[in-house]
Amino acid sequence: MTADEGVYAWSAVLMGSPILLKLFDNNATLAAQVFRVIRHQENILTVNRAHSEVMAINHAAGKAAVSVSRDVFDLIQCAHQVSLLPDSLFNFTIGPLVKRWKIGFQGHSVPPPQELAQLIALTDPHQVELDPARLSVFLRQPGMEIDLGAIAKGYIADVVRGFLRHQKVERALINLGGNVQTLGAPPESAGWAVGLKKPFSQRDELIGVMEVVGKSVVTSGIYERYFELDGRCYHHILDARSGYPLDNELLSVTVIADRSLDGDIYTTLLYGLGVERSLLALRDLPHIEAIFVTRDDEIICSSSRQFSFRLLDDRYRLITDSTA
Ligand code: ADP
Ligand code: MG
Repeated sequence: MTADEGVYAWSAVLMGSPILLKLFDNNATLAAQVFRVIRHQENILTVNRAHSEVMAINHAAGKAAVSVSRDVFDLIQCAHQVSLLPDSLFNFTIGPLVKRWKIGFQGHSVPPPQELAQLIALTDPHQVELDPARLSVFLRQPGMEIDLGAIAKGYIADVVRGFLRHQKVERALINLGGNVQTLGAPPESAGWAVGLKKPFSQRDELIGVMEVVGKSVVTSGIYERYFELDGRCYHHILDARSGYPLDNELLSVTVIADRSLDGDIYTTLLYGLGVERSLLALRDLPHIEAIFVTRDDEIICSSSRQFSFRLLDDRYRLITDSTA
């Protein structure tokens, strides 16, 4: 715990990520409760251990439907719908590919094309049956695996915000390794300052800073988890259509939205669409705003109604979609 101008901060490593909680009250009991809430949710949703509600579904693939808790069912139903959108990069049945590549884990390697083709066949979201009456999930093919890694942190960040609201907390920030969710703003400030990281920088350098009040900021970047082989960079956002990491002009996508779950969904969707198609799509989604960092050092904002952005590094060019 550290204190700075009335801010009290607690940190821990959970879900393989550094977690940071900021409060304006030196309430260690509340902080401990928040970390318990996070651990509890992780235990339910993880696919990195043998047992969880999601793993129970995966273990029964090709055999039986498995009933889960209402919250997990709702989250899976949401992931299912997003996975079925036309042109969606988001695919919650990406598990077999994630497990094989092991990007960000020990033992990563580039699978041969033949093997990728076999795994791609196991990542069809149409092969998932949901029964809302029984709250059950059935993966039709043996070997299929649900992976909620792209949205679990956002979902949990929203659960934490709900918990803090329930505890009558008015100002707080939770950072789940790239998923920031906020309540209110620090006293006498314009908002919470959230840094936009410089991709692949060694010392956590920032391109700029956003300021938000009671909003979530989610960044998904190809520099977060990757390995290099023969001069190529293999990162952790996979394209189930090719079996390989998605390769386009983007280094990172940041989404500012009310819900961190939406931030998580849209970072993946927009990353898959690329800048031009994303900007078009975002014109019809006023509650979702995005900042794109491209390989040629452009910072492109779709609009900025819910946040302000200050550029700190003039090597980058800041562009705002003028038609938004
Ligand atoms: P981070 O954990 O770095 O915040 P993201 O939120 O960008 O990462 O999610 C990446 C994780 O999502 C991967 O580690 C994997 O578990 C899962 N994933 C990878 N590709 C996809 C995809 N196309 N659709 C859905 N989930 C994916
Ligand atoms: Mg995500």
